[in-house]
Amino acid sequence: MKLRFWGVRGSFAMSGRDYLRYGGNTTSIELVSAAGDRLLVDLGTGATELAKHLMASEFGKGAGKLPILLSHTHLDHIQGLPFFTPFFIKGNEIRIMGADPTSGISLEATLQNQLAPHYSPLNGLENLAAGVSIESFVPGATFQLPGFSITTAAVPHGSMMTTAFRIMADGKVVTFLSDVEYPSPDEPLPQALALARDADLVIHDAMHSDLDYDLRKGWGHSPARAGVVVAEKARAKKLALFHHSPDATDEMIDEVVQRTSAQTAVPVFAAAEGAYLDV
Ligand SMILES: [Zn+2]
Repeated sequence: MKLRFWGVRGSFAMSGRDYLRYGGNTTSIELVSAAGDRLLVDLGTGATELAKHLMASEFGKGAGKLPILLSHTHLDHIQGLPFFTPFFIKGNEIRIMGADPTSGISLEATLQNQLAPHYSPLNGLENLAAGVSIESFVPGATFQLPGFSITTAAVPHGSMMTTAFRIMADGKVVTFLSDVEYPSPDEPLPQALALARDADLVIHDAMHSDLDYDLRKGWGHSPARAGVVVAEKARAKKLALFHHSPDATDEMIDEVVQRTSAQTAVPVFAAAEGAYLDV
């Protein structure tokens, strides 16, 4: 399975010379199986860059099929939706799959609101030329997508819940645990550990450095060490620190990786916008 980070930032997109190496776009990750099946996790601003690549392939001809998993509908995870150009080509078939937000409004109504005229000239999902389906699932659900097998779980994110994913393809496992805060970073919840069990790669929220975390408890995000605890307890093979704070410069992220690596035998790196990784 190949994986590419198109957006690794949390909260809002950044630009500037201090953010060039890790990148400034918000959450979006592409996974491609050995057979060429494709899956996207989240539609942050990073998805708009992927869209340009997709348009050079069958998506530009209206023959693309793409499932998209949404962890939740906070803006940094859906801001790329109105600008994801494969939506504008008739014939493409795109499935957006996520849990209904815990606020009680359905996933479909939430995304429909995002395209309402006061936010977007698109004026509603029905105006997207592609075939777009919005599919809600109940967290905890397990399902199959072409080339991928998915297990989901709800995890706490401040006052709400987000969805975490265990994504399996080609005998490999990638676990996505972003926008999560456990009651204590040293005691990850059992559902998070179950998703990460023996994973080849755990992508974990590391919005805060361990040093900042005490000031930001309860904001719904994790310090870097929470990912270490998950990776160690779950016997994961590798840890990617993810959802970098917009305040975190390249140098600051380098320091977090250094400090975090010194705490564990699990190989640690910080997710960066860039080339495809082999998982
Ligand atoms: Zn976020």
